[in-house]
Amino acid sequence: MVSEPRPPRRLGHQAARHRAADQADPREQGHQPRQGRPALRRCAGAGLRARHALQVRRRRRERHPDRRPDRRPEQHLRRGADTGYTFTLAGTYRYDNDQWHKDRQSSKYRSQTRKGGADALNIWLVDFNYLGIATFPGDYPRNGKADGIRVHWDSLPGGGIANYNLGETATHEAGHWLGLYHAFRGGCTPTNDEVADTPAQGSSSSGRPVGNDTCDLPGLDPIHNHMDYSYGSCYTEFTTGQSDRMASTWTAYRG
Ligand SMILES: [Zn+2]
Repeated sequence: MVSEPRPPRRLGHQAARHRAADQADPREQGHQPRQGRPALRRCAGAGLRARHALQVRRRRRERHPDRRPDRRPEQHLRRGADTGYTFTLAGTYRYDNDQWHKDRQSSKYRSQTRKGGADALNIWLVDFNYLGIATFPGDYPRNGKADGIRVHWDSLPGGGIANYNLGETATHEAGHWLGLYHAFRGGCTPTNDEVADTPAQGSSSSGRPVGNDTCDLPGLDPIHNHMDYSYGSCYTEFTTGQSDRMASTWTAYRG
């Protein structure tokens, strides 16, 4: 499982600090819960302090082996790979439970409300001190009832979390749910995130640092990749290698 603490407003663009939930991360020290509640706007049902669970199903499309953006010039890389995944909304469920809305009793509410099998992406929209938290495919066999992603409702398009209110947190968490690690996971090493066509990063990005290069291995930092920590407006792509990793983990755990 992995989680993305949400940036406190007062820290502005430098605040996109994150940690993996299952391991201590010194970067997380000093992270403060945000102050006060945002206006409950543009989130249907949130005025009821409700929790929503969106269930979507994955459908695999044929992929085209000749469409390999990693062999194209850098500007074309930003188009990203066709991962072949599409999602269809299978249902929206609302629960009027203040504790659940604050992500308390998360194991309980997830087990009680999760819909579908291993191939159903459950998205719980909550109000907590993270941008999002995801389970990995490998978590499913031992704890399938908790499988899915939790996303801060205020990160949805039009939400109140500055620079993270385009809905891209959900995309990022879905990437984890499909088996992807952070693009900077292993630091400046050849293995890095275990995906060959994502340039190694020495550290995660913050903001929109065009041209950043925190690692002397080939390639600039993949600031446009959904699995980095750039602003939501910066995200444009998954790579072919990430797409292949999604497919292999899907076959192993969700297919
Ligand atoms: Zn993440």
